[in-house]
Order: sequence, then structure tokens, then C-alpha cells
Amino acid sequence: MRIITRTDDSVEPQDWRQLLAGSFRSVESLLDYLKIPQDSIEACHQAARDFAIMVPEPFVNLMQPGNIHDPLLLQVLPQPQELDEAEGFIRDPLQEKHANVQQGIIHKYQGRLLLMAASSCAVNCRYCFRRHFPYQENRIGRQDWQQTLEYIRNDSSIEEVILSGGDPLMMQDKHLAELVSQLEEIPHVSRLRIHTRLPVVIPQRITPQLCKLLQNSSLNISCVLHINHANELSLAHKDYYQQLRNAGVILLNQSVLLKRINNDLSVLADLSKQLFEFGILPYYLHLLDPVKGASHFDVPEQEAITLHQQLMAQLPGYLVPKLVREQGGKAYKTPITT
Ligand SMILES: *Cc1c(COP(=O)(O)O)cnc(C)c1O
Ligand code: SF4
Repeated sequence: MRIITRTDDSVEPQDWRQLLAGSFRSVESLLDYLKIPQDSIEACHQAARDFAIMVPEPFVNLMQPGNIHDPLLLQVLPQPQELDEAEGFIRDPLQEKHANVQQGIIHKYQGRLLLMAASSCAVNCRYCFRRHFPYQENRIGRQDWQQTLEYIRNDSSIEEVILSGGDPLMMQDKHLAELVSQLEEIPHVSRLRIHTRLPVVIPQRITPQLCKLLQNSSLNISCVLHINHANELSLAHKDYYQQLRNAGVILLNQSVLLKRINNDLSVLADLSKQLFEFGILPYYLHLLDPVKGASHFDVPEQEAITLHQQLMAQLPGYLVPKLVREQGGKAYKTPITT
């Protein structure tokens, strides 16, 4: 009897690409689905014109219907305040253009560099510091990889390659596999890091093929997830993250401190504890980057410091993320302390 094996491109009911294609792309459809009255959404439309709304259904299903203040909804819903001018909130707050040494690479810190492996994300986070970044100019087509790999090959100080974006897991597994195998051939590269929010919004992205390719790699692999609130961790996620851990991947998390979403001691403590339940260690808690259109998420530095100190008083050290700010022209992310 012939055994029919499934190919890489077979479409399963829960295929992540289908879920991605079915994302909510309008304020109406999202609020309608959540049964939230649509009284004053004209201003939301204007904000969405500047930076589109996009959110996959699995993430929406973690939100509480009827609650306009849901901490997950607030991260993705265009708000009228985005149109406000706020002093100090600018288009390229990190001055990444300077560290953008060549197409697709941001080499800012010693021993490691960011490779912008994909130009898009699965979700548009309203506070994103890259909301105005010239992604299209930085899209690495597969032809351009050679040039990118050449840059890494020629600098033997680079021990770690960080796949970033956009979201690197927007790449198909077979393309990711090609990239990983080319990186494996560079002798001085020993670590690979994947910065992603995709599994948070579509956990089905953690495919068996992905786990297999990470497990079989000779590189030491870590994955830095981006989770801001404990509600982003569901039982469904738990199995998928376990599969990554079974593949030998170290799981870390970075959050952004966001007003009305997680600037609260019990919310932050719950997040850390829940992350650990899921086999993930808190890594960074970022102060918001002052990007134009995101000032309504800003938490004053003094409040952040106080929250962080309270967190230290309440949790074991390994569950307290480092409170940092990203600054242009510094050798590392700046720790925030009193
Ligand atoms: C955050 C960041 C890194 C990684 O920094 P770590 O402290 O190693 O996590 C590397 N490059 C750039 C440009 C970054 O913004
Ligand atoms: S997933 Fe990350 S890079 Fe993409 S919009 Fe959200 S915060 Fe920005």
C-alpha cells in the first residue's frame, strides 16, 4: 500500500497561513466580533489610515467580549490619540537608520546583530517603535541574503545572529531552514536568536517542521517572545511552547511597559509567574520608545522605577525582567535605576 505523506504545503484546517489571511483588518469587523458598540469610531479610522489595523483571530479570541478596555484589545485598536502631536515623540526614535549598516542589517551592539528577516508582522501593535520604519527598503529578498551572509562572514566578532523584522516567523519554514543552514556554515556564529510575536497571536505558527529544524540545528537557539499581559498565555499556547522547549530552544520574553495595559504591580507579577508556568523566563521590560503616535501608552520613568522595585520585592530574582530603555548610540540597552 502506498503511504501518502503530507507535503510541506498541505493546508490543514488550523494552518497558520490561513489564520493569518483571515486576520481582522477593519475597526468595524473587530468591534462587531467583540460585540462592542461602535459609537465614535471615525477617529479610529483616521488613526488606522496612518498605520493599518491588523489582528489575527486567535489573539482576538483571548479578549473579553464587550470590554473596550480589554488589555489585549488596547494594544491593537487604533485610537484617536494616535493623531495627537506629543513633544519628543518622533518617527525614528532609535535612530536605527544610522546602525542600518546595509540593507536588512542593524549592527549596533558588539558580538551580535539584527537581521531583518521579514518585512511584515502578523499583528500591528499600536505602540510599535517600527511603525514608521522603512521596511520596504529593508526587505531582504532571498537573492539579497548572499550579501547579508557575506557581511556576517566577514566580521568574525559576530557570534550571535538575531532574526528580527518585522517578524522573522513570517518566513516559511523551508526558507527559514535555508537561512539557518547557511548561518550554520559560518564558523564564528554559534548562537541564533529569534525575536517574534507571531506564536503569541497565532500559536499554530509553531509547526512540527519548525520544531524539527530548530532541534536539528547545530546552533544554540533562543527565542525571545513578546508578551505584555498574562491574558496572552492560554492553554493552547502552553502545548506549543512546550514543543519549542522539547526542541531545545531557550524561551525568553520581552514586554513593553504600557499605560492602561500592564503598568500595574499585580499585572506584571502575574505575567512573570504565568510566563514561568509556561517555561518562559522574563528577559526585558522596555520603556516605551517615543515613537510618533504612541504617546498615550507612555508610562513616566519614575512610575516605571517604582513598579520595578515593587516587583523585585515580591518575586524571585529570576522572575524580574530587566527594566531598560533603548537609546541611540549606546553600547547596550540602558538599564533604568534610581
Ligand atoms: C535589542 C537589540 C539587540 C539585542 O540586545 P541584547 O541585549 O543582546 O538582547 C541587538 N541589536 C539591536 C539593534 C537591538 O536593538
Ligand atoms: S509584532 Fe513587534 S515589530 Fe511587529 S508591530 Fe508588534 S511590536 Fe512591532
